[in-house]
Parts: sequence; C-alpha cells; structure tokens
Amino acid sequence: MSSVDWEKDDPFEEQRDKIENPMKRLFLVYGRDYAFPVTVGILASIFARLLDLLPPLMLGIAIDAVFREDAVFSEQIPLVLLPEAWLPATQTEQFWFLIAAIAGAFFFGAAFHWVRNWGFNAFAQNIQHDIRSDTYDQMQRLNMNFFSDKQTGEMMSILSNDVNRLERFLNDGMNSLFRMSVMVVGIGVLLFWINWQLALVALLPVPVIAGFTYVFIKIIQPKYAEVRSTVGKMNSRLENNLGGIQVIKSSHTEEYESDRVDDVSMDYFDANWDAIETRIKFFPALRVLAGIGFVITFIIGGLWVFQDAPPGPFTGELSVGMFVVFILYTQRFIWPMAQFGQIINMYQRARASSARIFGLMDEPSKLEQNPDATELVVDDGEVVYDDVTFGYDDEEIIKNVDFTVEGGDTLALVGPTGAGKSTVLKLLLRMYDVDEGSIRIDDQNVSDVTLRSLRRSLGYVGQSSYLFYGTVKENITYGTFDATDEEVVEAAKAAEAHDFIQNLPDGYDTMVGERGVKLSGGQRQRVTIARAVLKDPDILILDEATSDVDTETEMLIQRSLDELTENRTTFAIAHRLSTIKDADTILVLEGGEVVERGTHDELLENNGLYAHLWGVQAGEIDELPQEFIDRAQERTARVLEDAESDDD
Ligand code: ADP
Repeated sequence: MSSVDWEKDDPFEEQRDKIENPMKRLFLVYGRDYAFPVTVGILASIFARLLDLLPPLMLGIAIDAVFREDAVFSEQIPLVLLPEAWLPATQTEQFWFLIAAIAGAFFFGAAFHWVRNWGFNAFAQNIQHDIRSDTYDQMQRLNMNFFSDKQTGEMMSILSNDVNRLERFLNDGMNSLFRMSVMVVGIGVLLFWINWQLALVALLPVPVIAGFTYVFIKIIQPKYAEVRSTVGKMNSRLENNLGGIQVIKSSHTEEYESDRVDDVSMDYFDANWDAIETRIKFFPALRVLAGIGFVITFIIGGLWVFQDAPPGPFTGELSVGMFVVFILYTQRFIWPMAQFGQIINMYQRARASSARIFGLMDEPSKLEQNPDATELVVDDGEVVYDDVTFGYDDEEIIKNVDFTVEGGDTLALVGPTGAGKSTVLKLLLRMYDVDEGSIRIDDQNVSDVTLRSLRRSLGYVGQSSYLFYGTVKENITYGTFDATDEEVVEAAKAAEAHDFIQNLPDGYDTMVGERGVKLSGGQRQRVTIARAVLKDPDILILDEATSDVDTETEMLIQRSLDELTENRTTFAIAHRLSTIKDADTILVLEGGEVVERGTHDELLENNGLYAHLWGVQAGEIDELPQEFIDRAQERTARVLEDAESDDD
C-alpha cells in the first residue's frame, strides 16, 4: 500500500485558490452585521489603553511638581492642555488632584476594559456562529461524493478547528492588535512630547525588535506547519487504528501497529521539539534586546538627571520625574511589541482558515435545484428510467438503463456486487444527477421537482442503518416529527420491532445511537424500517433492507414488508433472491447494464445469470456451468482490484 498524499486529500483546494482576499470577505460579508459591537470594542480599547498610560505620567508629575517642587504644576504634560483655572494651586490640592486622576484612570480604565471585552467577544462569537451555521448549511448541499471518509474528516476540521481559529483571531488577535497600536503610538507620542532626544534613544530597540520578530516568524512558521501536518497524520493513524481495532486484534498485528503509532508519534515529537527549540530561544533573546534598550536609556537619562545633558546631540534638561516616566514607559512598550509576531501569526492562520471556510462555501453543488422547480405530485407512482447513463467521475457506472415500473408494482434489482444496483436507486433519490437520459415519476422529471417534495415522497431503507443519538422514538419519527405515540407503536409493530423495543431498559425512550444503547444490526435495521413505515411514502426503496438480520427475523420482516409494499411502488435490492422472487419485475444488472429482465419464473426459464445466481443460493453449485464460475471469479478479482486501487 502506498503512503497517502496528504496534500492531495484536500477536496476544496481548487475553490480555495480562487479566493483572493478571504479576510476582506470575512469582514465585509460577516463583519458588517456586527459593526456596532466591534466599533464600541475598538473605541473602548483605545480609551482603556490611553487611561492605562496615565498613572506613570501622574507619578512623574508628582515627583517633579509636588514632592520636589522644581517644576511648575500647570506646565506639566499633559496638564498644559487644561485651562489653568481648573488646576489646583496648593501643594496638597495638587497631590490629591493627581491621586484622583490616578484613581479615575484605574476606575474608568476598568470600565472601558469591560466594554472592550464585551465588544470584541460579541463580534467574534456572533461571526463564529454565523459562519458555522452557513458552512454547515452549505455542507449539507454538497454532492454525496464529498462525504467519503477522508473528506468527512476534512469537513469536520473546517467546521470546528478553522471556525474556532477565526474566533481566536477576531477576539484575541484584534484585541492585541489594538492594544499594541495604542501603546506604541500613545507612548511614542508622549515620549517625544516630553523629551524627543531621549525618546529617540528609548525607541531605538523598536525597529530592531520588529525586525527580529519578523525573522523569528519566518523561521518558526514552516516549523509550525510541520507540527500541524504531523499531528494530522498522527490523528488519522490513531483514528484508523481505533476503528480497525477488531481487525488488529484478530490479525494479531498489535506489535506492528504499536510500531507504526510509535513512528508517527515520534515524527510529531521531532517536529514539535524543533519548533520548541526555536521558540524558547526567542523570548530570552527579546529580553536581552529589551534589556539593552533599557540600560542605554537608563545610562543616558540617569547621567542627564544628576549631571547635565550628556555629550552629543542632547540639549536642555531632564527632570527626575520625567526620567521615571521614561523608564516605566519603556518597560510597557517592549512586551506589546513582542506580541507583534504572535498577531501576525494569528492573522495568517486566520487567513488560511477563512480561505478554507470560503473554499467550502464556494464549492458548487452539482445538485442545484432548478429555479423553476415544482412540487412533485405522485398519483399512480409510475417510475420511468429513460435511457439513463451515469458515472461518479469519468467512468460510466450505469449504461443506458431503461425500464418502467407501473404504479404500485415492485421492481427488484439483482446482480453481482458492484453492478450498479445502489447507484440506480441513488439516482432516483437524486443523490446524484444523471449524465444522460432522465428519470420520471408520474411524468415529472426528478430534476425539475423540488428536492424536498421528491425526498418526501420517497422512503429509503438502506444497507447500513444509521441511528442518530437520541431515543428509539426520535429515531422512528425522524422526518415525520408530528407522529403520535400510537402511530409510532403501529409502525414499530409492522416492522417487527415493537417486541424488542419494549424489552429495552426504557422502551421507546431508550437512548440509542453512537453513545446510547448498542442495538444489533438487525435491530437497527428494524428501527429504520419502522421509520419508513411511519413515513408512509409513495415510493419505497429497499436497498438490501434485510441484509443485517437473521433468516428468522428476515421472514418476519418480510411479512410486514409485503404489507408495506402492497399497492406501493417499490424498488428492492436483495442478495438473498428468495426475498424478491415475488417481485413484478426483476432486473438483472451486470457492469452497469441491464442484462436480463422478467419475472422470477421467466428468468429461471431463460437460464441466464439470474438462473445461475438462484442456483448458487439454492445450493446447486455442482450444476453450475464452468462459464459462470469463470465469470464469477473474474468479477471477484475485479472487485478486489478496485478495492486495492481505492486504498492507494
Ligand atoms: P451495487 O449496489 O450493485 O453493489 P454500486 O452501485 O454500489 O453497486 O456500485 C457500482 C460501482 O460504482 C462500483 O464499481 C463502485 O465502486 C462504484 N461507486 C459506488 N459509489 C461510488 C462513489 N461514491 N464514487 C465513486 N464510485 C462509486
């Protein structure tokens, strides 16, 4: 088996590459509805950060103008902006004025922080919800092709990981972005205002730190990508092994699988360690850079305070208070800068996630409903397949299939595995659209009626009976939500399910499905049959509906099915030919083509494929012609080949 090409697995790549600016689209399409909270959040964020800057400045003023009294109170930055009449004159009043300003800054700052958090969270959570709902709606419209195993994982990952990642950027990322901008701009302006020469010194590390962070991001990003890729591989391996634990145990390959898990886990470890090594060097290095800036500011500022303007371009005076302000601000300045890298990182990940989300949303669904679609009206229930040809991809799977089922009749489809029986029925359900020809119900083309009315008229009981996590009753009424309890019991009785349901711990209210009580395959099958009985559809599709039950139960179900199918157009696929031998017409499919048709007796007389299949099931293996055995072997080999190439 060849290794899986992970990049190639991505089903939405093509659409995604067409999306030019996903973040713009995110803000324009989804952000617009929540412009109010985000604007409030941004404004509150700016005010909150500005208020954060006040206390150090007040401390500086207190030192210079109140404690040491060697500066004029009203000339201090930013008090010069206020009319002098508003400012207190005595030392004590000035002291209390500054205390009030500091206390006010803390109090209002806290209030603004609260508003800011409300705004950004409301923005992010609402968008997250809208995007998830829209993506899910779109996902449900996709062609069935998208729901093969690997792609289900991919969609799950878009719906959870990518949507969550967006939320993180919209909340934390944007918050940090505004915080950083206000801090850098606010502190920069204040420092320049107080003393532009020392400001130049204090801000010297800024471009260095920005450049350093940029380089760090460039180095760490591919490492993070590697971590994500290895974690994806590891999860797939684990998921696969948990799903196949029975095969592993029965093939006694535990050691082999342990080694394989060990390998992928080691790859993850290596990738992670590589990223960790880089990351843990970054912050100490940043500290050193910040420290150098701090020391230089301290040396120049300190000398300036207790001697005179240092030699060089420095002129004028620096007061003790303003020196303290510089030192305090420089400290506050560096750490938001260190987040710069993280914000870019978050932004890029959010951008990639939006591209993935919009890639899924833009995926055209081949099953678009005709804009002029009408409601399907079923009268007799006659179904016509008119020269239908279809392929999942380029290869034709159904070739020129042509037949008519009279209203109320039963048509059985038989043939070897892979002949295309299920596909024929999926086309009627319009899981896929035909490539050529048409399918008509009472003269209405299935492509011209609304999907809702079509699916309402059809009842489907498939090979694998999936139950949702919920009660037995909820599973039976799924799709017929308004059924009464009596109707549910009646349907269950008709499906031979009532007896076993009553013996469940909570009867009809027993929780079943993935996390509920485990039902046997046959029991699940009967619950789904009850669902179809309750729906009372115009046309019934039984795709090996009794494949999972034992012969005895099958007989019981068959009895109720006979009642259900009477006077109802029915399509039935069955491997056990005994269950369909009374069908009005039997179509024998091979390689996507109808090779024989007729009633059971006619087909036996014909002595073709059907007669041979019947012979095999009746135990007449010895009497089979060599030609039939050869063909069967050929077919089995082909199916195996297909299965192998699917695995590649
Ligand atoms: P049957 O019901 O007679 O066993 P199916 O209709 O399930 O046959 O399958 C007919 C052929 O179509 C098989 O070769 C199968 O591999 C292929 N096939 C079925 N489903 C898909 C799919 N979703 N995508 C591609 N090929 C498919």
